[in-house]
Amino acid sequence: MSETATQRVGQSPLQYVSDQLAELRAKGTAPKLRVVEGEQKPVCVIDGREVINLASNNYLGLTTHKALRKAAIEAVRKYGVGAGAVRTIAGTMKIHMDLEEQIARFKNVEACVVFQSGFTANAGTVSAVLGKEDLIISDELNHASIIDGARLSKATIKVFKHKDVADCERILQENANWSGHKLIITDGVFSMDGDIAPLPALCDLAEKYNCIMMVDDAHSSGVLGRNGRGTVDHLDCHGRVQIQVGTLSKAIGAMGGYVCGSRDLIDFLYLRARPFLFSTSHPPATAAACQAAFTLLDSPEGERLVKKLWANTKVFKRELKKRGFQFKASETPIIPIHVGDAAKAFEFSRKLFEAGVYAPAVGYPTVAEGKARLRAIVSATHKREQLLKAADILAEVGKQLGVV
Ligand SMILES: *Cc1c(COP(=O)(O)O)cnc(C)c1O
Repeated sequence: MSETATQRVGQSPLQYVSDQLAELRAKGTAPKLRVVEGEQKPVCVIDGREVINLASNNYLGLTTHKALRKAAIEAVRKYGVGAGAVRTIAGTMKIHMDLEEQIARFKNVEACVVFQSGFTANAGTVSAVLGKEDLIISDELNHASIIDGARLSKATIKVFKHKDVADCERILQENANWSGHKLIITDGVFSMDGDIAPLPALCDLAEKYNCIMMVDDAHSSGVLGRNGRGTVDHLDCHGRVQIQVGTLSKAIGAMGGYVCGSRDLIDFLYLRARPFLFSTSHPPATAAACQAAFTLLDSPEGERLVKKLWANTKVFKRELKKRGFQFKASETPIIPIHVGDAAKAFEFSRKLFEAGVYAPAVGYPTVAEGKARLRAIVSATHKREQLLKAADILAEVGKQLGVV
């Protein structure tokens, strides 16, 4: 027996996990899970304390909207609580098909497939459409689910500098003779900086170099474009993006993800996307809530909510700037407050929480080492006074810590 193995006699084989955990805790970069009591609201009780919630992706307040609640409850009464099987066996209920048709109409595309989450939509689609002979050209700040899907596909992955169209073209030129398929993939809105992808220029490249174009609109669904139709609509790239992913878990207020594209793409994913084939479909209540959400989005009330979201974003950004905060990259309701050092970012978040504002710190592996930050997200349902108060508290605690 080797020496190290001898030392481990009598220890759990998972001792190294406990050691790593202890190290993270000692560094101050192992925050506890915050627990929300009651509803997901702009002001809510978290860990027993009432705080202004700047942490949620519930952009339009739909998680607690009465139309969605009613739809979900009716679906439970009518259909029960579970789908009972994966989509390809007996788990396709009419309500799933109706939802897919409704989303396809909303996005003005031929067809749509709904997944259990945005994560599985990305991972399942990239790995189904691309294979080991293919090339994936990916923005360096793309979401983890895109990265995992790319890895699962076994394709060659080349990463271009964030939003850098010239760097993307450099990769395309270097691989001009690539014999397999090529995919350019980008988040529509980047989740950590709140900036928007240069989609029209990327579409130009995709057309010039004969690539598939794919965009992940998780943070843009319900936020950008007419009635929240996403970045393709916002940047007028209709017909130029073959694969559009969206989430049902953020602005839509429920849970799930979807892929929009041609009828053939969707029919192919029905046969090959592994989360679709091997994981049970949405409970009917979730599908019903999503249907109600899209009906609402496409109504005057939806339009009003999206407008309010942007008005609140403008107010909050203005108030933060007045107080010395800078967040140049952000173009959306996602506001990153850069700190740098992870332990300091976690301390900032903790002190803010004690002062009545919840804005989580994000550090490695969500963002690169040394780029830790707080991330504040505004919603349509925040009241002006809440945003002003939050800005005051952010400035006060930020000053104490020398962040602003
Ligand atoms: C949140 C997010 C996802 C995952 O969506 P879920 O529905 O929460 O699984 C995918 N891509 C991006 C860019 C995201 O921000």
